[in-house]
Amino acid sequence: MGRSFEHLIQYARTLGASDAKLIDAGNIVVDPRSLLKCRFGCYRWGKYWTCQPNINISADQFKEALQKYKTAIVIKCVEPKVVQEVTLAVEKKAMLEYGAIFSFAMVLCVLCDECAFPDPCRFPHLARPAMDGLGVDIAKTVEPLGFNVEFDPQGNLLPEWYSMVLLD
Ligand code: SF4
Repeated sequence: MGRSFEHLIQYARTLGASDAKLIDAGNIVVDPRSLLKCRFGCYRWGKYWTCQPNINISADQFKEALQKYKTAIVIKCVEPKVVQEVTLAVEKKAMLEYGAIFSFAMVLCVLCDECAFPDPCRFPHLARPAMDGLGVDIAKTVEPLGFNVEFDPQGNLLPEWYSMVLLD
């Protein structure tokens, strides 16, 4: 029987998440089309250490690693800086208190107003890759949990930010 990570939900909420839910890692949808959306139309492409092509982990390598995980937590916040803080805190707690030594956060990095790329990352211990940069279809992954990904008519993401921590 696997570990229970239920308490991490409340922990994430306490830190400022508007919600969080556990998900079977097998239900995380990876679709290479998400990389097309990264490559064309996203201003972050090639400008952030945590976005493609600078992640230096291919979607196939990620899929191989993903198969080793059984459980993950999806975190929702209204503020991108908050979601990054909460996500990293959950990753740390899972590792140190739950013994999930491979717990791994995926969250858009917004620590700096402008990424240092191509100079060295200013906070490499805090920077993690974006989910979509690794091929995750965020909408198809979170919608079965009752979460929504919505855009305004200009194509801007409406104020719900999602992140994930692969747990164990
Ligand atoms: S911490 Fe700063 S320099 Fe490092 S990836 Fe994030 S935005 Fe870029």
